[in-house]
Amino acid sequence: MKSIEKYSLDTKCVHAGTKHDELGAVVTPIYQTSTFKFKNVDHGANLFKGVEDGYIYTRMRNPTVEACEDAVAVLEGGAKALGCGSGMAATHLLFSTLLQSGDHVICSESVYGPTTTLLTTIHSRYNIEATFVDTSNLEAVRSAVKSNTRLIFVETPGNPTLVISDLNEISKIAHNNDAKLAVDNTFMSPAMQQPFKFGADYVMHSMTKFLNGHADVVAGMVIVKDIEDYPLFRKTLNHIGGVIDPFNSFLVHRGIKTLKLRIEHQSKSALKIAQYLENHSKVDWVRYPGLKSHPQYEIAKKQMSGDGAMISFELKGGIEAGRILMNNVQIWQLAVSLGGVESLIQHPASMTHSSMGKEAREQAKITDGLVRISVGIENVDELIEGLEFGLSKI
Ligand SMILES: *Cc1c(COP(=O)(O)O)cnc(C)c1O
Repeated sequence: MKSIEKYSLDTKCVHAGTKHDELGAVVTPIYQTSTFKFKNVDHGANLFKGVEDGYIYTRMRNPTVEACEDAVAVLEGGAKALGCGSGMAATHLLFSTLLQSGDHVICSESVYGPTTTLLTTIHSRYNIEATFVDTSNLEAVRSAVKSNTRLIFVETPGNPTLVISDLNEISKIAHNNDAKLAVDNTFMSPAMQQPFKFGADYVMHSMTKFLNGHADVVAGMVIVKDIEDYPLFRKTLNHIGGVIDPFNSFLVHRGIKTLKLRIEHQSKSALKIAQYLENHSKVDWVRYPGLKSHPQYEIAKKQMSGDGAMISFELKGGIEAGRILMNNVQIWQLAVSLGGVESLIQHPASMTHSSMGKEAREQAKITDGLVRISVGIENVDELIEGLEFGLSKI
């Protein structure tokens, strides 16, 4: 489909990235092949020199992978995308491409747990320094900037506290200091937040979550805003090797067709569930971007076109109350991950954010009684009944 950019997001979700083959397949087939035949020696040599267009080897380029990459690039409004084997592989690609020994990165303190661990235990070995700040506090971001700051990495809404950072303002801080802004857009997906519109230079996703949406794939993506950045990212990915495979690309690309439908439905249900929880006597507080009680409600309205499917809440009675809820809740499944059609419930302090350590969790305001839920597409009244059953046992 030519000039897909002019169409609405609904239409883009269905058609973006699709390549049509000579047999007329309506969806891009799975090119489950590791390598591609050259017509002759000159053809092979020309492909390697880059003077002729074509496929060589699947780690470098594959039509099914490319279809998925193009779809996400279109949805985010970026120039190009790079499919990775997981969200963490995508984050690693970002850091490895952009940072060198001696560089400094500022990272949201409320961030996916392994992102913290990647910076503090892996990239720290290459003399890359990281400062974790509350990126919803612009003064804190400004004062964390150093002469060697090259990158600000923001997750918004942040994991698992759902704290929201002002992308427009942070991009100005980055650019005024000769640094770049990268955004982990996993929690909103491009259907509800497009960070390039607010000055971001790079976006990454765990496509394991909303983009695929069916809890059956682990995959990631990096999207670059400017085409000039693409060759260095491609070269880095080709050599570190953490690429997505054709089959998973096919599944994610299929999931994307219903992305907007799914997340809009999930978001509507989530608001209803958040309101129910906010009025519940056993709940201390609720964080959901669609509630007026959210501290960054106004920023959410400015940069997000919906409120998403993630809710965090604190039970009265802390960790023990949480244990009772999670062992008794109905329909909701006790599992980490998020963004799928099935509703999930989990406890960050003992699960997703356990590797951070208690001190870092306390700094990021991840309390021991915090519960995180991902709202799926089941009937919302039944989801509330399922929660009520668990809460009634406390
Ligand atoms: C899950 C997740 C990641 C990591 O993605 P994987 O696909 O599990 O490697 C990164 N960021 C956020 C916000 C996530 O939820």
